[in-house]
Amino acid sequence: VVYLDYNATSPLRPEALEVMLDTLRSVGNASSIHTAGRDAAARVDLARQQVAHLLACAPGELIFTSGATEANNLALHAGYSVGETLATTAVEHPAIREAARAITTDGRGSLVELPVDRDGVVNLTPLEVAIRQGKVSLVSAMLANNETGVLTNMDPIIGLAREAGALVHTDATQYVGRLPLDLNELDVDLLSLSGHKFGGPQGVGALFVRRGTSMPYRPLLIGGGQERGWRAGTLNVPGIAGLGAAAKAAQMQLHNESARVASLRYVLEDGLTSRLPDCYINGARSPRLPGVTNVTFPGLPADALLAAMPEIAASNGSACASGAPSPSHVLLAMGLSRQDADSTVRFSLGYATTEHEIKQAIEATVLAVKEVRTAMAATAE
Ligand code: PMP
Repeated sequence: VVYLDYNATSPLRPEALEVMLDTLRSVGNASSIHTAGRDAAARVDLARQQVAHLLACAPGELIFTSGATEANNLALHAGYSVGETLATTAVEHPAIREAARAITTDGRGSLVELPVDRDGVVNLTPLEVAIRQGKVSLVSAMLANNETGVLTNMDPIIGLAREAGALVHTDATQYVGRLPLDLNELDVDLLSLSGHKFGGPQGVGALFVRRGTSMPYRPLLIGGGQERGWRAGTLNVPGIAGLGAAAKAAQMQLHNESARVASLRYVLEDGLTSRLPDCYINGARSPRLPGVTNVTFPGLPADALLAAMPEIAASNGSACASGAPSPSHVLLAMGLSRQDADSTVRFSLGYATTEHEIKQAIEATVLAVKEVRTAMAATAE
């Protein structure tokens, strides 16, 4: 199989696998005071430093979680003041979108979803209006979109939020480990990440909380007081160790990998658009992540295309929403018709993708398009 679904999950990096196996063979609860416990705590400390190094933050600013879904929920839960306004964008992952709706429902506050244009660029006017009208307490905007790879220009969002005295959260799940990030320069208060998008294990992630950020103390999980009270529960030491190792490996390769992946994406897009002149790329005019392309094949259902190229692992819209009958909310927000949204395939490349695989993907897609077109013409007759 040619695996081109890195935005759904990425293959585990060998460095992460190795440290996880070693940690799984060891024993120790990171909270225990004996030697075994201290060994586990040391593994967690190392991972915390490795992740902090990747983000240019302090280790003490990180809370380990079960992934970005939890980090996003915790960020909204802790950062939002009930009764006030929460602003997000129309293209957020469900782990923000649905959580934001839940947190503001039943008169508990109001939610502003900022629309995007055809290129996926966020329209800030409703945020300006909301700030003039009342108390916006939290703004959450993703750094990179999981379906299209379109990057959000955070500076104007941060500027408006600061004027309003609001906290800023960013869901950086698809960005971390793919492009350089420096939290000295990106002035957000809260940031979510997930290990399995950059070669770490699934089920582990982190929430960055900038030192000195004043928030109501509102953890989601209450119990033994781990993670300075912000996230109770015995730490997932093997997962956290794997996350740390993946962060270190991703950081070391970042420069080379992002350039190499961007050039492969170029080959893929050039191959598809030159051989299939009908298809178009969503978000192509915006700055994007290096490894993602979101391609619409008008008139050809994505499910049928993917079924016609079983050797290629790509996705129709976002994996998180696939299986659900509704079309991609991201593409609809960008102004695609329902039919075009349903005719869209996401290819996402990553650190282990090869040029040979990209060539195979181009050939397979060209064939699949022909096959589906022929089958549809036959049923139409
Ligand atoms: N946010 C974004 C932008 C994502 O792409 C994903 C993963 N699909 C998540 C959040 C959820 O992350 P996790 O799988 O770690 O819960």
